[in-house]
Amino acid sequence: MIRKPIFAANWKMNKGPSETEDFVNSFLSKTQGLSLTAEIVIAPPFVSLPKLADLLHNSNAQSIQIAAQNCSQFDSGAYTGEVSVLMLREFFVHYVILGHSERRSIFGETDQVINAKIRKAREANLKPIFCIGETLAEREAGKLQSVLKTQVTDGLKDVSEKDLADIVIAYEPVWAIGTGVTATTEQAQEAHAFVRSLVAELYGSEPANKIRIQYGGSVKPNNAAELMACPDIDGALIGGASLEPQSFLEIITNGTQTE
Ligand code: PEP
Repeated sequence: MIRKPIFAANWKMNKGPSETEDFVNSFLSKTQGLSLTAEIVIAPPFVSLPKLADLLHNSNAQSIQIAAQNCSQFDSGAYTGEVSVLMLREFFVHYVILGHSERRSIFGETDQVINAKIRKAREANLKPIFCIGETLAEREAGKLQSVLKTQVTDGLKDVSEKDLADIVIAYEPVWAIGTGVTATTEQAQEAHAFVRSLVAELYGSEPANKIRIQYGGSVKPNNAAELMACPDIDGALIGGASLEPQSFLEIITNGTQTE
């Protein structure tokens, strides 16, 4: 089963339009002539989406897809500060990161809210990058599997098999995000295989074998290759190390040499 690896840059609340322009110009100049075998996604803050869309459109860099870092579960109306899926579509957004641990822990998003957002995103044909992962306390209390099971089951509630085909799961142990501590390849592979088994329980083995499961949590150029060599890891969601064009590129090139 060939699953095309997907490397997504989550810039979080970094890079307004002018820094986005600097990054893209530098990144594109470095990728020229390279044949990258992965799907590349960049998720800037909302305000930088128009600039990113313009730059990619004008450069013909169709292999790079645009993601939003969030979307509303509602269509329109009195939801101050929110952005709808149809607004995102106007800026050629194809992916949307949902369920990130920072959205869960800082902004109180529950599995039910995340599920509503996933279903709303699919209505607009946006592809969710659906993040799940346990805290250190949960792992140490032996709750890894039960936490992942709840997140996967509740997050994908009433999501059809057809829609699942356009969803990417990102397994991100919370204790590895932005900490410089990466899961070992054994820990990552074990969790990914377990998540795939959960998808198989819900949808059967064929959709489970097809779904891409990214790893996220302090991925860097020097650990990308060993993580990506794990059989159930299909790319990475990258925060800090995606802010520099060179390190993002090295993660992609090192991570795809294992293919
Ligand atoms: C993330 O925020 O999704 C992430 C994985 O961050 P970092 O790479 O900085 O750990």
